[in-house]
Amino acid sequence: MPDDNQYYTAFRYAHSILARRQTLMKHASIVVIGGGPAGLAASISAGRALAGNKGSVLLLEGNQECGKKLLLSGSGQCNFSNNLPILEFLYRLGKNANYLKSAYYNFDKDAFTNLLTDAGCQSYARPDGKLFPLSMKASDVRDALVKQAVSAGVTILYNARVYDLGKHNQTGFIINMENGSKLSCDKLIITTGGASYPQTGSDGKALSYTKSLGHEATAFRPHLGNVNLQEFSFYKKCAGISLPNVQATFAGKEKSFTASGDLLITHKGFSGPLILDNCHRLKRGMEIIIRWAQDAETRLFEAQKKYPKMDIINALWELPIPKKLLKTILEARGLEFHQSMKRLTEFEILLLATVLSGSHYTISRVESLDTAMASAGGIPLAEINAKTMQSRICPDLYFAGEIMDYALPSGGFNIQMAVSTGWLAGESAVRT
Ligand SMILES: Cc1cc2nc3c(=O)[nH]c(=O)nc-3n(C[C@H](O)[C@H](O)[C@H](O)COP(=O)(O)OP(=O)(O)OC[C@H]3O[C@@H](n4cnc5c(N)ncnc54)[C@H](O)[C@@H]3O)c2cc1C
Repeated sequence: MPDDNQYYTAFRYAHSILARRQTLMKHASIVVIGGGPAGLAASISAGRALAGNKGSVLLLEGNQECGKKLLLSGSGQCNFSNNLPILEFLYRLGKNANYLKSAYYNFDKDAFTNLLTDAGCQSYARPDGKLFPLSMKASDVRDALVKQAVSAGVTILYNARVYDLGKHNQTGFIINMENGSKLSCDKLIITTGGASYPQTGSDGKALSYTKSLGHEATAFRPHLGNVNLQEFSFYKKCAGISLPNVQATFAGKEKSFTASGDLLITHKGFSGPLILDNCHRLKRGMEIIIRWAQDAETRLFEAQKKYPKMDIINALWELPIPKKLLKTILEARGLEFHQSMKRLTEFEILLLATVLSGSHYTISRVESLDTAMASAGGIPLAEINAKTMQSRICPDLYFAGEIMDYALPSGGFNIQMAVSTGWLAGESAVRT
């Protein structure tokens, strides 16, 4: 039988192990907040960069699973990247290309595809360049990222929602959790996403605590959303029609711009890349002027010569507009379309040409953050070093993913850039 002294020694030993475990639980060298694609990528790269050295990576996810938004992406199929050659890929990032190029060169679509393949998730490039998991299941992409994080030695804490942050002794951070517990870390990576689809956990509240670290964020606004149009009742019957490479001018009181892209007609207005990709610049009351046909005037006079006996709709078959839509455009403007081409006066042809070269529609509603696929706004890019993703304001703090104030087009660019910026942030947190 052990005597009292031996019991006491065993008790002290067990207690010291527990205390040490608790100390380890309470402090990590690197904490990542948010387990979406950016946070998972940051954790994996930090874990790998630390391998064999002292230090630990802790990923805090507010939900009971990682990547809830990722699971919804691409209608549950996850268009995770785009197969475009590097320069074309960067071109598609628009005004953010120059800023994001370091992150993309450091971890591009091939690096991402290989990371997934190594974890058993094969991918497939559609003819239009969009990359998907071969299984067409977003959960396979999410599971592969979680698997890689665990293999890289990352500890993932679920149901771990952060509600506040503070600096600790000038050298690290204190993290206050919603459940009342506290953690500390030397380096902090914030990857809490934007504010669209808040039910997925990305509710935008992180901006309140990044403010306490000195960052003046821009309010989140919807991106990758549809628009409703006033007086669109005529067009309902055209819902589902899509047109490639349509040119449009978006005119508002303060600013106007032109853009082109594929357009989809919905029951209430417009969608498709032309609208989705420019959504963050659109407001209620703005006009969308659609150029339904190029060189309409010339083509109408030519059609009158070539097909004098045909009615307008049939004579204009060479225009890239489906008959049903052409009829509706003319109907909506009160134009007669049953008469033959030869009966059209020069004035009527010019009027028709004006309508086809620029039909005006007024935005009655831009999709809200509740249902838009992404958000613009967040931490200004000028406050983050593009080569490291490190804050220019608060040392040892890093950002990645949609919490950064960029707005990217649809087509796999959002998930890829969340992962690319996340990867760079994780590596930099270990090396800088
Ligand atoms: C319906 C839909 C379809 C989409 N389809 C595509 C697509 O096909 N292709 C594409 O490229 N993009 C798509 N997107 C956009 C893409 O999903 C996002 O841009 C991407 O997920 C952003 O990654 P992220 O890691 O920055 O943020 P998120 O994916 O939003 O992840 C942030 C994580 O942080 C956690 N979090 C937030 N606050 C806290 C906190 N305080 N404490 C702890 N954890 C917190 C959240 O729970 C969440 O898990 C789609 C989006 C939606 C909504």
